[in-house]
Amino acid sequence: MSLTAPNPLADLGIKTTVHLNPGVDELYAHAIRLGEGVQAATGPLTVRTNKTGRSPKDRFIVEDDLTRDTVWWGGFNTPIGAGVFDRLLEKMTRFAEGTELFVQQVYAGTDPRYRIGCRMVTEMAYHSLFIRNMFVRPTEAELAGFHEDWTVLNMPSFRADPATDGTRSDTFIIVNFTRKMIIAGGTQYAGENKKGIFGVLNYLLPAQGVMPMHCSANVGADGDVALFFGLSGTGKTTLSADPSRKLIGDDEHGWTDTGIFNFEGGCYAKVINLNPEAEPAIYQTTRTYGTVLENVVLNGDGTPDLNDGSLTENTRSAYPIDQIANVQPGSLAGHPKNIVFLTADAYGVLPPISRLSPEQTMYQFISGFTAKIPGTEDGVTEPSPTFSTCFGAPFMPRHPGEYARLLAQKVQESGARVWLVNTGWTGGKYGTGKRMSIAHTRAMLSAALSGALDGVAFETEPFFGLEIPTEVPGVPAAVLNPRDAWSDQAAYDETARKLARMFRENFGRFEDGVELAVTASMPNPDA
Ligand code: ATP
Ligand code: MN
Repeated sequence: MSLTAPNPLADLGIKTTVHLNPGVDELYAHAIRLGEGVQAATGPLTVRTNKTGRSPKDRFIVEDDLTRDTVWWGGFNTPIGAGVFDRLLEKMTRFAEGTELFVQQVYAGTDPRYRIGCRMVTEMAYHSLFIRNMFVRPTEAELAGFHEDWTVLNMPSFRADPATDGTRSDTFIIVNFTRKMIIAGGTQYAGENKKGIFGVLNYLLPAQGVMPMHCSANVGADGDVALFFGLSGTGKTTLSADPSRKLIGDDEHGWTDTGIFNFEGGCYAKVINLNPEAEPAIYQTTRTYGTVLENVVLNGDGTPDLNDGSLTENTRSAYPIDQIANVQPGSLAGHPKNIVFLTADAYGVLPPISRLSPEQTMYQFISGFTAKIPGTEDGVTEPSPTFSTCFGAPFMPRHPGEYARLLAQKVQESGARVWLVNTGWTGGKYGTGKRMSIAHTRAMLSAALSGALDGVAFETEPFFGLEIPTEVPGVPAAVLNPRDAWSDQAAYDETARKLARMFRENFGRFEDGVELAVTASMPNPDA
């Protein structure tokens, strides 16, 4: 293998074998040669990783003159000194001489006005394929004049020494806004590549009047756009892949003065227990050449076993968006008509669908609630609540109030309707009730998006002040009001009060930064 000439990493002082913009076939060959994975009998490159999820505690932002007063420190935004970054980069540069590296020149963002050119430098060939699938691939002409705004240097086999390097562990992801660089080591989880750049856009775009969002998006036959916000596991990917609507993207979007654009050129779907009948489009990607399957176990005959969660429950398929049949060309569309906040409430308290006022919209957006089911620990039956501001706290460098105000302004200007949809439990909390059926959730969404709910009567529930439709085509009336769905209504009231108190306690952190009207839409535990 020869050095690509001229050396595409000369500015970093890295002298080693560099593969510039390799294609899919080449990356399969490299990944297999380097022992990163194998080709599944159904086609995808299948890999195992040392970490099977993100490492939010090992993510840092360099604190300097640029970020000191513009980043909201605390929570997931942990400051680190510029010196730590510089020393680690220096070490990585030297370490790189003994490795071979892969470079992809790709965009983050489908809107040419706001996209950033990314030079993605990875030690793993499979990361390079992941990046090719997940980012926006430039045309030949765009590649010829490619401008690199940001560089990501990701070398999983480089490990930091916390004692001398100033990190928390041997794993680190450090974002440096001044140098326009992200460096990462210690983790093979490919999702860090995309989430790192997501965080960069989430910082840059608000300054340009663009709202960055952790949401999926699709568009109906008559051009009506819908957004689906939600934390991990709430259904962004599942519910946006709707055969009757064109997919814009499944995870990260921007909202500009003209409408919605995808940050990505691919999707990253969970595939554990994937049902081919319920989710045929996503299932098909696990049988397609070019897909990356992460931590999926293969059967003896080389076919994927999607029901095997022995490596992790977070098994993933990463594929270019055009593997889905019904996609919006260019992943660009107009202003949204409907916005859905997805929550998977394992307390079974929140209604399966409700309509939000502008103040409730801000309140729910800043709260960012979901409640996961307990892990596999014996005897644990209490759901674990998560409040993650903007439905994506780990990726939001600025103060939540900044994003909430931008969203409120865009919602007002566009006249979009906002819905809260509980894809979690019904009829009781986790342990007693059951998960909402996907068919019911889809029926409720299709009624909301089509305007069919505009004509029906709504009732207001007392704890959260949420407006619940009294009828939805294709959904039994008893499912719509969560209190009616519980057999023990006293238990419902008790659980609802408890959840209302959790909401109030969480919101205490933000009260200073938001308007009184928003604070007034706090839930009432004494109802
Ligand atoms: P991430 O941010 O991690 O990508 P996501 O929001 O895209 O998460 P999905 O990948 O869509 O979440 O996961 C939702 C999971 O919940 C899927 O496994 C889906 O099958 C399951 N599920 C069960 N019931 C429902 C429901 N009523 N609505 C949506 N998803 C449901
Ligand atoms: Mn998703």
